[in-house]
Amino acid sequence: MARLTGRVVRPGDFGWDDARKGYDQRFDIQPQAVVFCQDAQDVVHALGWARESGVPFRARSGRHNYEGWSNIQGGLVIDLSDMDSVRVDRDAATAEVGAGIYMLKCSEWLGSVGVTFPLATGPTVGLAGLTLGGGFGLTSRKLGLTCDNLLAVELVLADGSVVRASERERPDLFWACRGGGGGNFGIATRFTFRVHPVSMVAAFIAEWPWSAFDHVVAAWQGWAYEVDDAVSAALQLTASKTIKLYGLFAPDNPADVSKAQALLQPLLAAVPPSAPPQVEVLPFVVAARLFFGEGDQKVDPQDPRWAVHVHSDQQIYKSTSAAAMRPFSAAAIATLRGYLEDVPPLSQPPVQPSMVQLLPGGGAPSRVAPDATAVYMRAARFIVQYDAFWAAPQDGPATIAWAERFRTAMLPYASGAYVNYADSAIADWQQAYYGPNLARLVAVKRRHDPDNVFSFPQSIPLSV
Ligand SMILES: Cc1cc2nc3c(=O)[nH]c(=O)nc-3n(C[C@H](O)[C@H](O)[C@H](O)COP(=O)(O)OP(=O)(O)OC[C@H]3O[C@@H](n4cnc5c(N)ncnc54)[C@H](O)[C@@H]3O)c2cc1C
Repeated sequence: MARLTGRVVRPGDFGWDDARKGYDQRFDIQPQAVVFCQDAQDVVHALGWARESGVPFRARSGRHNYEGWSNIQGGLVIDLSDMDSVRVDRDAATAEVGAGIYMLKCSEWLGSVGVTFPLATGPTVGLAGLTLGGGFGLTSRKLGLTCDNLLAVELVLADGSVVRASERERPDLFWACRGGGGGNFGIATRFTFRVHPVSMVAAFIAEWPWSAFDHVVAAWQGWAYEVDDAVSAALQLTASKTIKLYGLFAPDNPADVSKAQALLQPLLAAVPPSAPPQVEVLPFVVAARLFFGEGDQKVDPQDPRWAVHVHSDQQIYKSTSAAAMRPFSAAAIATLRGYLEDVPPLSQPPVQPSMVQLLPGGGAPSRVAPDATAVYMRAARFIVQYDAFWAAPQDGPATIAWAERFRTAMLPYASGAYVNYADSAIADWQQAYYGPNLARLVAVKRRHDPDNVFSFPQSIPLSV
């Protein structure tokens, strides 16, 4: 009988609540144990133990799955977060990274030697979920998706074998691990990434009055898609009637950083902002910290000026997504504004207002073929991210229903969905997440997990 090895935490143990809880406080799931693996062998043992005992299990890294699917009632959580080492080979321009690392830590370690690869903007998002589902961040238009920079992955498969997948070793599995989504094929224990030098960048914020909504969205969607690849600029539109552009300009040559203002100019000239934009020239790692909400100016959750995702143990939310393949028409923009102006009333203020974030497409991700990795939405002009927040549990159902009505009303203009924004309400999720790549993912699943050991509500099935 396999034995659990690593740091095992059970109900009643010190720190149990911290060990079991996920990031979204919407879910209150009680597993029977959490094993914090220290190496790949601990993962092999945990998987073997769960299979022999008939105990359901889930892999977990950063705990950010939008539907709580990295946790399981009465089951075993196989947690990778202690496996967070980073080793950079600057000559080879590669980094070997423990699969359980979270963004802030990864960014800091890479930044300490002047390199990066595209990371998410939430400080505690896990690298494993991010990479396996595709992954994008504020350097993606320049450097590609997170998974586009993946060179190899070490995985524990259903039969307990520890294998590597890369372009040369198990290329089908490697293909599926770049966008197929976490938890489907095996448990990733280590990644090898291509890294890129980075030094000075310009971080910027601009804001507009709500009355400029239609003009800003119309101007942003052309500009953000076509602007220099070194610029990633997202638009945040909130139910509190704020409009904020935030982003980064990361030029190859640090001397070019002063060009940020000129690159922003076409957008600012098209629709003048409320005040001159804030443009801060900073070392990349410091700018990343600001967006993570970990800057020197500690971010006040009530006034998240730079932080992209306010992190708080009070966070309760429902997020969902779609991809806009064409610019929004006037009707689409009016629908967008209409839903933001019509959020259900809340009995308590949430940590942040409900919002939509428009995340720019184009750039490096769009130059990768839709079948080169499992990510098919390469031609998206932008991704629409719907985020619904509330605080009092009784406000949940109406707010969740609003988010789903909103996504549905926008379907004529933005369809499909990003697998890393898992949404249990999407009926045709297989098509939405995977499009034409679904059949190939199913074939990889059949080959590497024929008994469907890695299974959860939206896991890749054994047949279409
Ligand atoms: C605040 C916030 C900010 C975000 N920002 C971004 C962003 O900027 N860009 C972006 O692309 N996405 C972003 N996301 C979405 C994020 O990419 C996904 O939620 C991602 O799946 C999280 O991965 P995780 O490891 O944190 O989550 P987990 O909940 O631990 O895992 C997610 C899924 O992967 C599986 N899994 C976990 N670890 C492993 C492993 N080692 N091997 C195999 N499967 C595993 C789980 O079983 C689960 O199915 C954000 C999410 C939040 C909540």
